[in-house]
Amino acid sequence: MNLTIICPECASRLPLAAAEAPTAVLCGACDRAISLAVSDKVRAGDEVDACPVCEGGEVYIRKDFDPKLGLAVIITGALVSAGFYWFGMDLVAYGILGGAALLDLIVYRRLRDLEVCYRCHTEFRGDHKRTGDVFDLHTADVLELEWARRMGKR
Ligand SMILES: [Zn+2]
Ligand SMILES: [Zn+2]
Repeated sequence: MNLTIICPECASRLPLAAAEAPTAVLCGACDRAISLAVSDKVRAGDEVDACPVCEGGEVYIRKDFDPKLGLAVIITGALVSAGFYWFGMDLVAYGILGGAALLDLIVYRRLRDLEVCYRCHTEFRGDHKRTGDVFDLHTADVLELEWARRMGKR
């Protein structure tokens, strides 16, 4: 299982393998030390029973999708199609725009899922058993606030 820890200070992404995770990592961007309590199940890659950063057990499942990449596909499609539109080739323009949206959808469908910690947004990638459910906004609101309080941010 691979972890991506989000620095609570500067939001940098810190990837590391759960199997060899140390007891603390230092954020390379802001020097903040983040202590890790990797559970046996996480270390073994079985399932996420407790988050190594915040020790919470609540995770949700989402597609392993970089929203920036999807947006780039759409924007490129829009720009190219705007070019065709300018030259009066409307049908080609619509075709390209539709193609970009379709490509986005195909890319999205083929993606693997990952689990994300509700509180600290640590990401868990791998073939482990999924314990999380789909994203629930209410749960996220409650748990994110709790974590922010613990971090002394709110
Ligand atoms: Zn940082
Ligand atoms: Zn967490």
